[in-house]
Amino acid sequence: MKTITVKTKTKKYPVYIGNNILRLLPELIAKQKLPDRVFVIIDNKVEKIYGSSIKQVVNDLARKKYYYSLTSTEKIKSFKTVSIIFNKLYEQNFGKDTLLIAIGGGTIGDVTGFVASTYMRGVSIIHIPTTLLSAVDSSIGGKTGINFLEAKNFIGTFYHPEIVLIDTNFIRSLPQEELISGFGEVIKYSFLTDKKFYSTLLDNYKLMLNKDSDFINKIIYESVKIKSAVISHDEKEETGLRNILNLGHTFAHAYESYTYYKLSHGKAVIAGIVNAMSLSIELKLIDKNQYKYMLELPMKFRSFLNLKKTNPELILKLMRYDKKNKDGKIKFVLIKDFGEILVDVFANDKSIKKSIEKTEQIWFKRATAGL
Ligand code: NAD
Ligand code: MG
Repeated sequence: MKTITVKTKTKKYPVYIGNNILRLLPELIAKQKLPDRVFVIIDNKVEKIYGSSIKQVVNDLARKKYYYSLTSTEKIKSFKTVSIIFNKLYEQNFGKDTLLIAIGGGTIGDVTGFVASTYMRGVSIIHIPTTLLSAVDSSIGGKTGINFLEAKNFIGTFYHPEIVLIDTNFIRSLPQEELISGFGEVIKYSFLTDKKFYSTLLDNYKLMLNKDSDFINKIIYESVKIKSAVISHDEKEETGLRNILNLGHTFAHAYESYTYYKLSHGKAVIAGIVNAMSLSIELKLIDKNQYKYMLELPMKFRSFLNLKKTNPELILKLMRYDKKNKDGKIKFVLIKDFGEILVDVFANDKSIKKSIEKTEQIWFKRATAGL
């Protein structure tokens, strides 16, 4: 088992990563003297597969326990769910000394985090992420959120857990679609640091597709290290550093809406990164050879993305709605080199459209070349 300590201005907490480490939860909790009145919010698919071993572990550590399971869809990130959970907590007499445990992907984590931060002005929470995306991204960093009308993550808080426990055994049952979606964020992290992580991914990405346990552990460890380093310097998006985590995301959000969310977030991030690189080359920010090398890994996932022809004008229009925009101008996070990310870059419409066309050409040219 490996441990990474997340240290921010307001909180310090451990992230444990390893295979089959769920059984260690009682001793890890005892180490931190957390409450033994436990309310578990669990993804119902995860409950079906791992429910009995989870219950065994929770029974070991809890004096009082309650389970609430949810079907993970964006719809459950709502006031309605929050209110149902508040009701359960209240009816069951859970007080300030409650320990919430979120077991599931980012959906469960975001809504449980929101409940933890607001119930009685805040109770303890442990995240046990069960998807690759939640392991490398949503469980780290303290952002909680629910959707409001059409607006995603419109209501939320910053609230850190006491512990994040990443048992990579959960990945065993993860569908390939979800695996690749999480890997989109892993690819993103590899551009935020030196070349080494990227070249490891490029050489071994097939191990990820085969769910090789050691490799999955390694990529989660490296990703968590990168994300926690970023958030420890910019916990609440104050200094701007945290923006580097949005590499490829302005384009990704547009691709997601363009495909009516048929393209998952992580897959859209892969396409978005390619587009951010196309714009970076259009603005003469990256060296050509480096650019070619940087395209190699995202291109390996071309067939999984199944991207259709895009309409650059419409993609541009969709990006105008991005919540990070300033004075109606689209702000991009672009790349100069590994570990050299530029935030708040503006570009003219012509360059943006050209970069979208170029991305499409790269995608389709390579497709016909069978690369
Ligand atoms: P998810 O939670 O919806 O899970 C995806 C699917 O996988 C679901 O069908 C779920 O039932 C299933 N599943 C979960 N674990 C499984 C397992 N071990 N085996 C088999 N199936 C399993 O999706 P996600 O991709 O984990 O998270 C997406 C959410 O995360 C979005 O709502 C997004 O806004 C949020 N998010 C938050 C942050 C943050 O910083 N808070 C960052 C990124 C994303
Ligand atoms: Mg993302």
